[in-house]
Amino acid sequence: MPKQTKYSGASALTNAFTGIKAWLESGHSNPNLAGLPETLKNHPLMHQVWQGIDPTKVWDCHAHIIGSGDSGTSGAWATPRMDTWRHPILKIQKWFHLNGAALEANSEDTSFVKRLAHLSSEMPAGYKTMLFAFEWAHDEAGKPVKADSIFHIPNDYAAKIVAQHPQHFEWVASIHPYRADAIDALEQAHAQGAVAMKWLASSMNIDPASPKCTKFYQKLQQLNMPIITHVGRESAVPGGDLNFNNPLKARHMLDAGVRIVMAHCASDGFDKDYDNGNQVVTSFELFARMMDMPEYEGLLFGDISATTLFNHSWVLKHILQRDDWHHRLHNGTDYPLPGVFPLITSRQFQREGMLAAEHVPFLQEVRKYNPIMFDFAMKRLLRFEGKQLPTSVFETRGFFSNQRL
Ligand SMILES: [Zn+2]
Repeated sequence: MPKQTKYSGASALTNAFTGIKAWLESGHSNPNLAGLPETLKNHPLMHQVWQGIDPTKVWDCHAHIIGSGDSGTSGAWATPRMDTWRHPILKIQKWFHLNGAALEANSEDTSFVKRLAHLSSEMPAGYKTMLFAFEWAHDEAGKPVKADSIFHIPNDYAAKIVAQHPQHFEWVASIHPYRADAIDALEQAHAQGAVAMKWLASSMNIDPASPKCTKFYQKLQQLNMPIITHVGRESAVPGGDLNFNNPLKARHMLDAGVRIVMAHCASDGFDKDYDNGNQVVTSFELFARMMDMPEYEGLLFGDISATTLFNHSWVLKHILQRDDWHHRLHNGTDYPLPGVFPLITSRQFQREGMLAAEHVPFLQEVRKYNPIMFDFAMKRLLRFEGKQLPTSVFETRGFFSNQRL
């Protein structure tokens, strides 16, 4: 728990966030219990959710590494703006991360890895989590700009965590394409076993339509390495030009033959429809249009992480209905998100008829001990109008390990 720093000039906004924090601390936060009880391990619903699925093929394709660099060896960095009430949104986000991932003060780096390795050890053998490195924001000349960055997770650190726990993790590199050494860095990451590339275009200042990306796309295509790219609004890492997250911008990558996984299926936000006079539409509508273009069938994919957020159920329903898309969807947890209690509630899905009443107490109990097991179990149980996510959505290993064959 971060200690509250002194602040002056308390605003209404700050007071509101202080209230939220107090509410969370009074029983609405994650208790982060350790050791899934036998009653849950042997629960009939636990058997049901793992039935007919091969755990050795289940790779969670979207998970974040949280760290402050306090281990002295990780190189992880987070902006000090997260520690002050002058930036209440960042500060509340940090608190969410700390609680959601069970971080301990003064050992954030090591407690993050320790907790996630423990959670992973409770999953059936072979289950893996793909951990994201996270690139600095860069300027137009390809130089890193710390002042514009919210956090940074070096590629080497992500690779190191995998080397320490190869049975639990894979890693995803993050490299800015404007860097003078971008191609060398990409080749190195590939040689070190990175299974994909992660971009958050707005906060890293990457225009996917820029000719400065062309060579990078060519190399990714040669290596058959997919880009997992954020599209639509970004709430967790604010700042930058949100137009860079427009799904239509990804055409440049796709036309270069690069496989693209659009994070969260663009479930949040609005974008300009460049095809129709720049009118503003939901980002999801643009994602859907691209998914329905036959020429992108083998190139464009979506990850379903964060589609279970309390305000995204309309997208989730749409995704469940579109069974013609299901073979192009990949599961991701967006860890530590499933550990952030107020943002995802199984009770809401029960109210909306997507979970049965008897699922809710099981899911609520599992979540107190293991948010990644909870995320998997809930998505396996979700139904809408008789449709559910097929096992292929969870068995993503073939898609990401393909480049190593
Ligand atoms: Zn994410």
